[in-house]
Amino acid sequence: MLTPRGRAAMSVDVITFGDKMRFWHERMPEQMILRSRRRSSHIADPDGSLSLDAFAAEHGHPRLDPVPLTEFESYGAWYGERAAPDLDGRRIIAVVPRGERSFTLRLEDGAEPTVSRVIVAAGISPFAWRDSPLADLSDELVSHSSYHRSFGRFRGRSVAIVGCGQSALESAALLHEEGAAVELIARRPAPVWLAGHGDSLRARVRAGLAPPTDVGGRATGWLAAAPGVMHGSPRALREWTTARCVVPAGADWLPERVRDVTMTMNRQIRSAETRNGTVRISLDDGSEREVDHAILATGWRIDVARYPFLDRSIVERLDLGVRALDALVPCGRGQRLGIFSGSGVGKSTLLGSIARSTTASVNSSVWIPRSRFPRRASPAAAGMAPMPSWSVAPSGTRSATCAPIRRSTSPMTGSGCSCGG
Ligand SMILES: Cc1cc2nc3c(=O)[nH]c(=O)nc-3n(C[C@H](O)[C@H](O)[C@H](O)COP(=O)(O)OP(=O)(O)OC[C@H]3O[C@@H](n4cnc5c(N)ncnc54)[C@H](O)[C@@H]3O)c2cc1C
Repeated sequence: MLTPRGRAAMSVDVITFGDKMRFWHERMPEQMILRSRRRSSHIADPDGSLSLDAFAAEHGHPRLDPVPLTEFESYGAWYGERAAPDLDGRRIIAVVPRGERSFTLRLEDGAEPTVSRVIVAAGISPFAWRDSPLADLSDELVSHSSYHRSFGRFRGRSVAIVGCGQSALESAALLHEEGAAVELIARRPAPVWLAGHGDSLRARVRAGLAPPTDVGGRATGWLAAAPGVMHGSPRALREWTTARCVVPAGADWLPERVRDVTMTMNRQIRSAETRNGTVRISLDDGSEREVDHAILATGWRIDVARYPFLDRSIVERLDLGVRALDALVPCGRGQRLGIFSGSGVGKSTLLGSIARSTTASVNSSVWIPRSRFPRRASPAAAGMAPMPSWSVAPSGTRSATCAPIRRSTSPMTGSGCSCGG
């Protein structure tokens, strides 16, 4: 969050769009408790004056840990009033590139301001992931866990929950407490529980050894909490650590609340169908369930293409026609791409190949003579354009731009662009 003070210091003219805590108000159960502990639930700010503790002190609230959703919602609103007092509540319908250096924002009231940069921080709401044979059944019978503000309507009914992370386990607890007959179905052999802050000596020792970020185990969590060390570690260690830090896990205060919930672990759903207004689920051990409703607590998959307001030219992938690049560094339309390497290793050949094969109606290429660069100096150090770059106009035409020294343009052909080599 760029606070008013930060903006003034940077002399940047910023418009912030959005609603304070809307996702939290609409898509999380009222009775929810934050999985992150209090120490990990402060929203970042430059000097700590907008911390959860500062909010509690100002309002005379106790420092609750874990933090109830209601407390966090009030804190978020308080934070927002201070950090973004001039928040613009109009919805953005479309973000459309305007030339090469700016964007037009289409707002719900018909206004169309032009801006030079857009930072998208629009949250995860479009990314709810429904990965199961249940996903094809009607929304009335199968829902994602993020669509329940309360569970009262399931009192006296049977509900299957798929998943074993925090939202599956907490939804199971809340449904059970509402009087629903709940069964949790998961692939893993047993739930993973986070280290807690219980009263026993063992719990306190475990909690003391847990990393402040509340992800990962005692070793992996501390490594992830030190980004500099993590970044410098061997790749295999980084991947191992990441896999352990993002494992689905439940908060330490949940096991007691789900003690009486039926948990079917180590099982996969083979198929699902509707029958007389109920959901019939077949598992991989041959057993079957018939329930009134199924909840998919199957998490989120980030895919920016699902932000409906981003113009397709921003999110569509541009096929460069070079298999290694398309697989390893997929590019979007309008993206700038720098190619740097020593002399004679094929930059021009690669660029020519991109220029010939990219799906575009027009291309051009630029050649920069080697003499333009001082020995050992980078293009940027030599005061040249920072890097050769492709840019795509919204119409689908493409140009390759470097320093404008010598330019050749021809449809669907390409020559090389060489910087420093
Ligand atoms: C069930 C659940 C439990 C969670 N528990 C925790 C927890 O315990 N601790 C924790 O730290 N995190 C938790 N999270 C994660 C947390 O919710 C997100 O990380 C956080 O909300 C992301 O913040 P954000 O500002 O990126 O997005 P959001 O809070 O979703 O904010 C997005 C903003 O973008 C605006 N916006 C979107 N589209 C448009 C548009 N078209 N025009 C204008 N404005 C727009 C919205 O109005 C909103 O202001 C939880 C998430 C879920 C689903």
